[in-house]
Amino acid sequence: DLQVGVLSLQGSVEEHRSMLGKIKNVKPIEVKSLTALESVNGIILPGGESTTISKLLIEFGLFEPLKQRIKQGLPVWGTCAGMILLAKDVIGENPHLGLMDITVRRNAYGRQINSFTVSENIPALSEQRIELPFIRAPWIENVGKDVEVLCSLNKHIVAAKERNMLVTSFHPELTDCLAVHQYFIEKMIRAVENNK
Ligand code: GLN
Repeated sequence: DLQVGVLSLQGSVEEHRSMLGKIKNVKPIEVKSLTALESVNGIILPGGESTTISKLLIEFGLFEPLKQRIKQGLPVWGTCAGMILLAKDVIGENPHLGLMDITVRRNAYGRQINSFTVSENIPALSEQRIELPFIRAPWIENVGKDVEVLCSLNKHIVAAKERNMLVTSFHPELTDCLAVHQYFIEKMIRAVENNK
């Protein structure tokens, strides 16, 4: 089985683990220790509160080890707060892991509409239309030259990929649709494993 980690410090951890549990040949792993981090073939950084998750990463001694593993090519998917954690630039704040060449704006959708769901076609990720729930979501304002934009909504980038790193502003783990989880597992984790 592929060992797929979910960083389990804060945020929508259970939702991701239950999605992973529905996929064949995948074992969801709760990551909150170094041993667990070392055992995974890929990791999801869930939504939640990016500043809180970042502080907990430091407290649990996982900040540097996680950063190093991602730098060395560990497939990673950041949803929402996870996207903020991966970004090299966060507008008005210090970056956290600072690994992906994107500039993100936190809570970009403002107060009145801080939660909404749209349905979109993202051919790079899925053949079917997928539901995209946004919850106090960030968007991407700028991407570096090696970043592939996967989806924009009203000119704002909400999904992107750079090498082993995938980020989405939205939360597929809050829908019934496994497409993005499957994409991450098949196209990003399985692809690395097959090349070993
Ligand atoms: N607003 C949160 C943050 O800035 C992200 C929201 C989410 O992950 N659903 O960290």
